[in-house]
Amino acid sequence: MVRTGHQRRTIYNHGAGPPHTKTLGVLIGMNAHLATLGISVESIAARGLRECGEATELECAEIGPDGREHLLVPAAAEAWRRLRSAAISDGITLFIVSGFRSIDRQAEIVRLKLDTGTAVEDILTVCAPPGFSEHHTGRAVDLSTPGSQALEVEFDQTTAYAWLKRRAEEFGYRLSYPIGNPSGYQYEPWHWCFHDAQPGSAADARGAQRHA
Ligand SMILES: [Zn+2]
Repeated sequence: MVRTGHQRRTIYNHGAGPPHTKTLGVLIGMNAHLATLGISVESIAARGLRECGEATELECAEIGPDGREHLLVPAAAEAWRRLRSAAISDGITLFIVSGFRSIDRQAEIVRLKLDTGTAVEDILTVCAPPGFSEHHTGRAVDLSTPGSQALEVEFDQTTAYAWLKRRAEEFGYRLSYPIGNPSGYQYEPWHWCFHDAQPGSAADARGAQRHA
């Protein structure tokens, strides 16, 4: 937490040092996680999964009913607030279930699933390997709406989902894992990623490279 001067934003600096010095540390940490969890680099390569670097500047995009702060990079947070307001204007309530997640936290989630006896290949169809989750970038959100069970496929039966399909792109948010996605993840109607609002812009091209 470094900058609090802004009217409504608290900027968090995640990690230490400028990106070029952080990269090596992130890669080393990530590879250590993969080996420890029994995830083969070949299996990741076979699915064409791309590395997702951890965001370094984050702000609170929304506070959950449990008081938990959902963090996103500033551009994604700003776009989220505009999306949420537009949805409210149309009578739709959306909220964030999960935003930024560190590589370490992702490793912990995979570890917990392994501890229940689930095979690593099965885990990785519903959960990204550490270092490969769009949530690391601070641009991805898992969304829900009142009356819907969080992180369940039935979310796609809600009017909130229908609204997202129709309007999310206006705010730069896209569904990452539709049915039959090439990344090999199960269908995730709740997972949306910010790719910047104007298709074709330089920022959009960078986003596409990072989060294909
Ligand atoms: Zn997600």
